[in-house]
Amino acid sequence: MEIKIVRTEKPKPKPRDSELSFGKQFADHMFNMDYTREHGWRNARIEPYGPIMMDPATMVLHYGQAIFEGLKAYRTTTRSIRLFRPMDNLVRLNASARMLCIPEIDTEFAFSALQELLAIDKEWIPGLPGTSLYIRPTIVAMDPYLGVRPSNTYRFFIILCPVGAYYPEGFNPVKIWVTDKYVRAVRGGVGMAKTAGNYGASLRAAEEAKEKGYTQVLWLDGVERKYIEEVGTMNIFFAIGDTLVTPVLQGSILAGITRDSVIKIAREWGIPVEERPITIDEVMAAHDNGMLQEIFGSGTAAVISPVSELAWKDRVIRIKDGTVGPLAKRLHNEITAIQYGEAEDRFGWVVSSEP
Ligand SMILES: *Cc1c(COP(=O)(O)O)cnc(C)c1O
Repeated sequence: MEIKIVRTEKPKPKPRDSELSFGKQFADHMFNMDYTREHGWRNARIEPYGPIMMDPATMVLHYGQAIFEGLKAYRTTTRSIRLFRPMDNLVRLNASARMLCIPEIDTEFAFSALQELLAIDKEWIPGLPGTSLYIRPTIVAMDPYLGVRPSNTYRFFIILCPVGAYYPEGFNPVKIWVTDKYVRAVRGGVGMAKTAGNYGASLRAAEEAKEKGYTQVLWLDGVERKYIEEVGTMNIFFAIGDTLVTPVLQGSILAGITRDSVIKIAREWGIPVEERPITIDEVMAAHDNGMLQEIFGSGTAAVISPVSELAWKDRVIRIKDGTVGPLAKRLHNEITAIQYGEAEDRFGWVVSSEP
C-alpha cells in the first residue's frame, strides 16, 4: 500500500531541547489510515498534525473502543536515530485490538509508515541527553452510532511528541499508595490491553493517592485484593534478598516491554528473577525482616522508577531510607545505554530509523 504524503505549509516553531515537557507539544505531521468493513485498512497518509473531525455520536466517545501504544525514538551521540523494540509495540497493539474487537493492522506496514513519518519529522527528535521523541500509535472506533457493538469503521493514527529527560536532575524516587479500596482490572477483563477505559477507571484512585501525598497507586488483584498487580502505567519489581520478583502475567496486568527487558538483562547478569504471584503481605514481611532491598517500577516513559515509600493500610514503609538502590540505577543505566547506542545491543532490541 502506498502512503500519500502532504507536507505542512506552516511548520511550527520547535521547542528547545532544554525546555521539553511530556505530552504537550506535537510534531508537524501525523500518520492516518482508515478502516471500513468493505475495504479493510486503506487510505494511508502522512499529513499535517491536526484535529480529527468527529460526529458527536462517534462510538469511541461513548463506548471507549480505543487502544494505543507508547514507544520512543532516540537520537544517539552520533545523531543517528534509533527505536527500541518497536515491533513489540505493534504486536502488542494487535493483541489489544483482538481484546477490543478492533481489526488488526499489518505490523510491517505500520512499521514502514512510522519510519516514513519519522523521516519527515526527524528535526523533531531532540538531541540533548535523556530526551527523546515519544510515539503514540492509536486506533479508535469511528462509526457515528449509538448502541453497544463493535464499530464497523476505525481510524489508526500515529502522533509524535518531543519529550524531555525524565530525570534531568538525577533520580526522583516516587511514593506509592497501595489500595485495596479500588481495583484496576480483573482476570478475564481487559487489564492486559492498552485500552482507554483502563486509564479512565484508574483516575479516582490516583486522585485519592495524590490527596494523601502519594505519586501513584499500586494496584492489588481485583478478587482477593492481596496479590500485587502493577502501578499506574508501570510494571513493578521487588528486590528481595538477592532475587528480583515481579508479578506473573495472568491476564489482568500489561505485559510491559520494559518489564521484559529488565527480566532479560537481570538474568544475563546472573540475578535470579521470579515471575510469580506476590502478595502485599509478603512485601511487608520482607521489609520487616530486612530482606526487602529495593522496589522499582518499569515503563517506557521513565524506564526505571525507584520507589522510596509504600503506604499500605496504616503502615508506611521507607525502602532503604529513601535512597535509590544499586539495582534500579544499574538497570536504568544499562537500558538507556542500549537505547542511546552507548552499550552493545546483544539482544537485538535496537532498530535504526534510517531506511
Ligand atoms: C504502558 C504500560 C506499562 C508499561 O509498558 P512498557 O511497554 O514497558 O512501556 C505498564 N502498565 C500499564 C498499565 C501500561 O499502560
